[in-house]
Amino acid sequence: MPHVTKVDNPRWLKSLSRHANPGRVVNYCFFIVFFFSTILTWREVVVLEEAYISSQRNTLENVAHEFNNQLQVSIDRLTFYRNGMQAALEQPLAFEVLRQAGEEFERKRTQHQWSILLDNQRTLPVHGVSDAFVDETTILSRENALLGNELTATLEVGYLLRLSTTIKRAPQQMMYVSRGGFFISSRPVSGNNDLVERYYALVTSPWFADQSQRNNPGRGVRWLSWMLDTPDGPVRRIAVSLPVDYQHYWFGVLTIEFSLTQMKSMLATAAQGEEEGEYRLYDRQMNLLASSLPEGSKSDLMSETEKAQLAQAFEHDNRGGLRFTTNYVNWERIRNFDGVLVRIHHLDEGVRGDFGTISVVLSLVWALFTAMLILSWVVIRRMVRNMSTLQSSLQWQAWHDGLTRLYNRSTLFDLAGKAAKRSEAKGEPLSVVQLDLDYFKSINDRFGHQAGDRVLSHVASMISSQIREDDLAGRVGGEEFCLVLPGASKEEACAMAERVRARINNREILIGKGTTLRISASLGVSSSDEKGLFDIEHLQSVADGRLYLAKQNGRNQVCCQDEDSQ
Ligand code: GH3
Ligand code: MG
Ligand code: MG
Repeated sequence: MPHVTKVDNPRWLKSLSRHANPGRVVNYCFFIVFFFSTILTWREVVVLEEAYISSQRNTLENVAHEFNNQLQVSIDRLTFYRNGMQAALEQPLAFEVLRQAGEEFERKRTQHQWSILLDNQRTLPVHGVSDAFVDETTILSRENALLGNELTATLEVGYLLRLSTTIKRAPQQMMYVSRGGFFISSRPVSGNNDLVERYYALVTSPWFADQSQRNNPGRGVRWLSWMLDTPDGPVRRIAVSLPVDYQHYWFGVLTIEFSLTQMKSMLATAAQGEEEGEYRLYDRQMNLLASSLPEGSKSDLMSETEKAQLAQAFEHDNRGGLRFTTNYVNWERIRNFDGVLVRIHHLDEGVRGDFGTISVVLSLVWALFTAMLILSWVVIRRMVRNMSTLQSSLQWQAWHDGLTRLYNRSTLFDLAGKAAKRSEAKGEPLSVVQLDLDYFKSINDRFGHQAGDRVLSHVASMISSQIREDDLAGRVGGEEFCLVLPGASKEEACAMAERVRARINNREILIGKGTTLRISASLGVSSSDEKGLFDIEHLQSVADGRLYLAKQNGRNQVCCQDEDSQ
């Protein structure tokens, strides 16, 4: 009789194969693929984002550089005139016209307001106020010893200023305002003919006091933005100024004032060629000075929290970027200006751009891949589940008898052989009980094959209810059963066989409508106790012989001895 070949795996292999069941392996594999594909996609997104941020930074850097250059022109001018004045203070020209101007000043200096314009009209007029006015104000001072030279130097700078404004009409207003009570301006003093008021307005401008030796110890260029009250309401003004000192004496301030429109046009020029994004210029206090957007176009106003966040970021870094809900904002501090240039890139523009398109495609590819992965996971999981159900059902069928649900012959002997080896190794007995139903053929003949089958399954369930966990029970022939009882001595096996016999015989079985039947069985018992032999075929044949004896002796009994030893 061929035996079922089953490998008895070691415990660790069993636990491994339990964990490595196909369903779980499929889950692990899919999770790993999903995990790594997501990590890879995420990594790509991060790289793209970094590239986007650096492209944003480059664009802003270019514009900031351009803007700086434009501001540098004004700073260079101021420095040039300041150096010119200092040179003139050091070595005043001894022209007759200048000497005459000095005399004219001496004549006019006590007047409420006065102007001096040289005959040849090649310099700008110097406008001034009286000695009394200067004396009244602490920040002003007419040092007589220095005044003559300063006036000459002012006229010389006036000459240079006039020259530069004639050659190229500078849009900004450039001025020298002296602490000695006079000033010159590159553009005519418009609107207000009251020179005293005009001079007063200039020396009370924030940039004037800002250039005192105490307020600006570095004596460098200063930028300032402030609100100026005008008859038309408050107007923001921006000025760059540079103090004029000579031999540690502060003479006055050279300044260029800008209107917001001028700042805006400078910003627009700097941003030329950059189609995307809005550029904004903020001063140190986060006041918006200019935007690159054309006049009248709607610009997204930042919320107060966004502004506060930006202001905090400016404090710490000279450049950087922040992502808001619908905008990416990056900033760069302007070298030549006390403020920052901000670039606002709208999400829509970002999505329309190269980086946006790549990101969208990447996300879609990832979503598609993940969807396909999930779909194939579901399908494969279902297939694996069906296969393992099928496998276990086939396995059960291969090992069991379908009618009685007990082991089939080959499986029983296979398992019994291993149990015998284990019992032998442990030094415990092993017993075998062979059982055959009495007059079973007549049951079939009288009540039909189906009734016979029902009796067989009934007997099998009674046998199952009597055996222990380690015992093996199988159907070894038509109505023949075999029980293998590891650890059971012969007496215990006989007692157990007797219990089974009594149970089979004591109960009537319902086999049809109102038809019951009492059946009986004959049993033969053998044990390794007797000869110390654990060979399962031998034990079974001994038990079979005793079963035959039981039949001979009248059936419905258990036989535990051979005939000659009885
Ligand atoms: P005894 O053993 O007491 O000598 O008499 P018996 O009638 O049981 O004799 P035997 O063992 O020769 O009869 C076996 C009968 O069992 C023959 C066959 O019809 C019947 N049989 C075998 N396999 C099956 C089965 O699967 N289903 C049914 N219903 N009957 C079966
Ligand atoms: Mg029989
Ligand atoms: Mg038989």
